[in-house]
Amino acid sequence: MAFLILVCGRCGGFLLTKADLKTRICPYCGFRVAVDRAKRVASAENAFKASTILRELKKDAHSKRKTVRRP
Ligand SMILES: [Zn+2]
Repeated sequence: MAFLILVCGRCGGFLLTKADLKTRICPYCGFRVAVDRAKRVASAENAFKASTILRELKKDAHSKRKTVRRP
């Protein structure tokens, strides 16, 4: 079973989903994301690898936000 990491089209949050699902509800804003049309940032062959990638992506996004806010 393949897993995908998608970007929510509304809030830009990262979503972890199975590749065979049609839609996924964003856990951050409740938006229904179409799995085959959403922006894919990564894929993984199992849930463990996918969650590891997701954690790295969130860490990156967080540090980027901090950099932007810096004067
Ligand atoms: Zn969202």
